[in-house]
Amino acid sequence: MLSICLLVLSAWLAIIVILFAWHAMFIVAIWREPTLACPVVIVESDDWGVGPESDAEELNRIADTLARIRDATGHPAVMTLGVVSGHPDGARILASGLATYHRQTLLEPRFAAIVDAMRAGCKAGVFALQWHGLEHLWPAALMARVREDASLQAWLADPRARSESLPSPLQSRWTDASRLPSAALASADVEAAVREEAGLLAAVFGSVPRVAVPNTFVWNDDVERAWVAAGVYCIVTPGRRFEGRSATGGLLPPTRTFRNGERAASGAVLVVRDDYFEPIRGHKAEQVWAAVERKTCLGRPTLLETHRESFIASRELAALAHHELERALRGVLERHPDVRFMSTEALAAYLSDPSSKIRERSIRRRFGTFLHRLQADAALLRPLKFSGLRWVLMLATRVLDRLVPGRPQANSR
Ligand SMILES: [Zn+2]
Repeated sequence: MLSICLLVLSAWLAIIVILFAWHAMFIVAIWREPTLACPVVIVESDDWGVGPESDAEELNRIADTLARIRDATGHPAVMTLGVVSGHPDGARILASGLATYHRQTLLEPRFAAIVDAMRAGCKAGVFALQWHGLEHLWPAALMARVREDASLQAWLADPRARSESLPSPLQSRWTDASRLPSAALASADVEAAVREEAGLLAAVFGSVPRVAVPNTFVWNDDVERAWVAAGVYCIVTPGRRFEGRSATGGLLPPTRTFRNGERAASGAVLVVRDDYFEPIRGHKAEQVWAAVERKTCLGRPTLLETHRESFIASRELAALAHHELERALRGVLERHPDVRFMSTEALAAYLSDPSSKIRERSIRRRFGTFLHRLQADAALLRPLKFSGLRWVLMLATRVLDRLVPGRPQANSR
């Protein structure tokens, strides 16, 4: 009987050794990902740029709300603004008989109120600008499609039309989606487009933002290299990289996966944004609180993805979005008095500095977080479950959570 038990135990241990060996690189990456010692919450908002003057009013209202909500260090809540500094000039394109592309940009005086609102928010520490494409599209792809698509011609003819209402594949700037599946852009074209965007951003705001958010999360090495050459230091990702659109217009399978604080080959620091706060889609403060609890337990920052469309749809919906934003952030402060608000650029600097004051240095606490991360990782879910190791890890994390003072007690799921 004893020998059978020993045999079963040996077989189980062998399975665990094989499991760890098979996922060794993965597990090491989880361990090496920086662990934050306190909750960090950033609202990441995309698509702001060329638009009607009412957008400026919304930005000012958001800035006022954020300025009233401060962490224990006195820093106000921060909303990053993914800036789209240009938009097709539909009237002029149509007047050219669809022969020539023209754009409107934030340099034009009629958009001054929007630029002023962005600048004022940055000065007050509640906004932080991020690259999000000179346009939310690749102009040559739009021009190729518009010549054979009447609905796109109607889109150009509507002065109120926003990039949000374009067909999804065309909203990807860094791939040629004039035909599907999309094709990679020539690297010289990418470099020229990034240089052009840098020039415009510098002309409008006085300098280029140091953080880039690839629109629709489609980009490649050429884009990354061009961004870094233009002064970008950090790239916001959903934890994966997509490089094109499929035959049906959806995203192609990811080519890379990332963790917070990882360095890309281009030298940029990568951060992961995979929580969502879209009031226009019914997202509530409760979802934000759950996300912050989960991320805090995993020693990771909570980057909440949102878009201007939640704040510009109508006055009623915008009022609801403001109310929910304030409720979400005040609720976070109440539940996590040690929460820190900051820009994504500041977060990237903390993540890449091992001596940073907001990084956890206690090995015992880091190990407790590591055990939570192992259980929360989708790729390890099945191996842990079928090997039975999941139960061992759950027991170990419970014991550690009780033994190590200050460790969040939340369930990593
Ligand atoms: Zn966008």
